[in-house]
Amino acid sequence: MLIKLKQQPADKILALMAMYRDDPRPTKIDLGVGVYKNAEGVTPVMRAVKEAERRLVEEQTSKAYVGLAGDPAYGDAMVNLILGTSVARDRIAAAATPGGTGAVRQAFELIHNTSPDATVWVSNPTWPNHVSILNYLGVPNTTYRYFDAETRGVDFEGMLEDLAGAKSGDVILLHGCCHNPTGANLNLTQWQAVVDLLLERGLIPMIDIAYQGFGDGLEEDAAATRLIASSVPECLIAASCSKNFGVYRERTGLLMGITEDAGNTGVVQGNLNHLNRQNFSFPPDHGARVVTTILTDETLRADWATELEATRLGMLGLREQLASELQRLSGSDRFGFIAQHRGMFSQLGTTPDMVERLRAEHGIYMVSDSRLNIAGLNKVTVPILAKAIVDTGI
Ligand code: PMP
Repeated sequence: MLIKLKQQPADKILALMAMYRDDPRPTKIDLGVGVYKNAEGVTPVMRAVKEAERRLVEEQTSKAYVGLAGDPAYGDAMVNLILGTSVARDRIAAAATPGGTGAVRQAFELIHNTSPDATVWVSNPTWPNHVSILNYLGVPNTTYRYFDAETRGVDFEGMLEDLAGAKSGDVILLHGCCHNPTGANLNLTQWQAVVDLLLERGLIPMIDIAYQGFGDGLEEDAAATRLIASSVPECLIAASCSKNFGVYRERTGLLMGITEDAGNTGVVQGNLNHLNRQNFSFPPDHGARVVTTILTDETLRADWATELEATRLGMLGLREQLASELQRLSGSDRFGFIAQHRGMFSQLGTTPDMVERLRAEHGIYMVSDSRLNIAGLNKVTVPILAKAIVDTGI
């Protein structure tokens, strides 16, 4: 049996990481992999996470199974963080999942099981794992226009035009904030127009929110999700704590299913539990418990929010520095979009050839779609990158 297996295509980002590791140039810069790094290039354990873990070590008396949806307190804390009071709690079913990827995967499986004819619409481009999991599960999927190669903002007219072609019952996958990989996002007026279209055409939103607090602030980054969830009858939300709590390897995520009629919430909850049971049984608990400890303790929560805000402002500062350095060196405003984008990523909008030249000639590593991780920079490397971009003729 195993002898019949075929080689899987190599993961582009992992291949890039290996090339970076083997590059002897001391001036090399890694803007590839999607983890936050501070100015020293370290992905730190957040202070509040360390403290919550310390408390857990001291106070946890059992490692027995919890429940198929995880600890209900985790679900409550996360629902509150993401949705606030925008949706009645009795309309929301929630289950812990292994990371945001686990939530995305469970959501796609749920769609596949209940609406096999629904097409899932994803932005062009989107996080590559969206498309790869959809294809793996055999879920019909297609793209809607999103990134405007000219302005490097959102091609909003194109997006609405394409979504107007979706059929009733189709699922529209939206990034709640900090679009990955482009960094280009809708404003609230545009989100309202999307909501109107969803309602008009009977489309079901699925929101992937993986960077709350990395864009404009914790509340601001949840605004689109809250607007959509409170306006439509049904909605799926896949959330990740990997970035905003820095708990990447703990695999901490949540899938929410919001139903029109509170009388149906129990059935939705039962289905989320069932999906967990079939795929991995009980979800991981450690990261979820750390997150719950932080969100339910006033002091820890405030400290976490402060550290997250410093992280956000640090990335914003780097964006502004890079945009102004590029303006100075190129004598044009064509890179202004870098300061407009939000989150950890920006898509430069250049060709794979140019990306390869940045690597070969300047030791600058980014994904071939020209996505760069802003957090891979620091004050010293920003001018080096800006010069390389201009020298390469991008
Ligand atoms: N959705 C998006 C858009 C992402 O960028 C990521 C992380 N790269 C995830 C979901 C899932 O993250 P994780 O599984 O690490 O929590």
